[in-house]
Amino acid sequence: MTDHLTTVAGVAVDTRHWIGGRRVASTDTFTDVSPIDGSTLGEISRGTGTEAAQAVAAAKAAFPAWAATSRAERARILHAIADGVEKRLEDLAVVETHDNGALLRSHRRGVMPRVAHNFRFFADRLLTLDHEDFETRGHTNRVGWDPAGPCVLITPWNAPLMLATWKVAPALAAGNTVVLKPAEWSPLTASLLADIAAAAGLPAGVLNVVQGYGAEIGDALTSHPDVRRISFTGSVPTAKRIAASAAANLTPLSLELGGKSPLLVFADADLDLAVDLAVEQYDNAGQVCLAATRLLVEEPIAEEFTRRFVEKASGLRQGDPRDEATDIGPTIHPRQLEKIDGFVRRAIAAGARAVVGGHREGDRYYAPTLLTEVAQDSEIVQEEVFGPVLTLQTFTTEEEAVRLADDTRFGLAATLATGDRERAERVTARLVAGTVWVNCFFVRDLRAPFGGSRHSGVGREGGTWSFDFYCDLKNTVTAP
Ligand code: NAD
Repeated sequence: MTDHLTTVAGVAVDTRHWIGGRRVASTDTFTDVSPIDGSTLGEISRGTGTEAAQAVAAAKAAFPAWAATSRAERARILHAIADGVEKRLEDLAVVETHDNGALLRSHRRGVMPRVAHNFRFFADRLLTLDHEDFETRGHTNRVGWDPAGPCVLITPWNAPLMLATWKVAPALAAGNTVVLKPAEWSPLTASLLADIAAAAGLPAGVLNVVQGYGAEIGDALTSHPDVRRISFTGSVPTAKRIAASAAANLTPLSLELGGKSPLLVFADADLDLAVDLAVEQYDNAGQVCLAATRLLVEEPIAEEFTRRFVEKASGLRQGDPRDEATDIGPTIHPRQLEKIDGFVRRAIAAGARAVVGGHREGDRYYAPTLLTEVAQDSEIVQEEVFGPVLTLQTFTTEEEAVRLADDTRFGLAATLATGDRERAERVTARLVAGTVWVNCFFVRDLRAPFGGSRHSGVGREGGTWSFDFYCDLKNTVTAP
């Protein structure tokens, strides 16, 4: 054990950056705290512009050789990383739960297998990615995907390793090198990923991980002239800062941001399904960008829907995320809890009624909450809370449902519960949303585009769209 290793539930994690194939410490550190009990998990290297410059230089130096590595070899290494993730699945699940408070059972059965799948999927997609040929008056247009260069990937805390690898895997598959900056509230699994990638044979400098506060290290990464792509998942205010910083070098950006998505429940819906879908929005203590936090329910069924919702939501068990029986874990940080509580208190002061919850549970948990009697233009309906707080409004016509659904500045996702396929098609066509789920929620296929409209994001990733973003597309026109 050295000063630079911390042990989390028996798993050793290096608290330093990973730059150019070696561990690099900063003189300063920040304290990483567990949302479960406030205990200190480690003192993490606190990066600044110096480490940002080192990491980008390492990514730049490693780029030519990695870009020239055959697709088959790149795919082989990505599969080896997936093998490493699977081998260390329990370590990753346990560390992530201690670091961000999300359910251990979800990490074990859903999230970490998906992390491995991120690598396998983009490795396989790389091997089937092919140029398209077009003919123009006997000339051939050959379209190809060239690696773009060093990529800066910046990720949030609500699903740390899943969201990081959703970017790392396609960026590496495309032949790029990477500087990953995980969120300061959940820095640990990114460090384990660096170990796993190195053990899988990823050459030094191809994946670099830097730690620190966004405000201290972020700008040096996003304004760096050698960076050729920035992919960011996080909040709208940070995205605006990053976009301004990237503008100096016209660095292409992909932004996956927040949401205030609706769940539209029509009177013809299977009511049990609709209630299940609504209660599912409390998953991860509501800290899910895609969460349908605005329940829009057709008037004639609103009373019965609410009755069944309250019954089901009251049965949710809130507690230690390591416990298999727990449904809802803690909020990531006391600051986030304070923010959530502020939203709810202001909503209640403005006339909202809490039919479920509406208060903290101690100093780490927020009770699952449902607010009714909320105005469409109120803060609680318009702003992302990022906690277990839902609002319920009613509508009387399909027209009104669509109008309410589309009336925020976001456009990430929407969910419909209806027994009428034609209605589903009609309504879907009019919704502003990157993803629409009909009678289901959170079903994801990595071949499909993912992203948001309006303030929910810029661009799409997933499948071929990821390669379009992470590559420089080149058209070669050859005379007959
Ligand atoms: P955040 O914007 O505060 O932070 C995200 C990341 O940006 C962190 O790593 C942070 O350190 C970094 N950062 C902060 N300031 C920076 C700067 N000036 N320059 C560069 N980097 C900087 O967001 P958060 O609170 O960690 O995450 C929650 C938000 O993320 C919510 O709005 C949620 O909806 C959104 N989100 C979106 C998706 C999606 O796929 N659309 C997925 C998950 C979360």
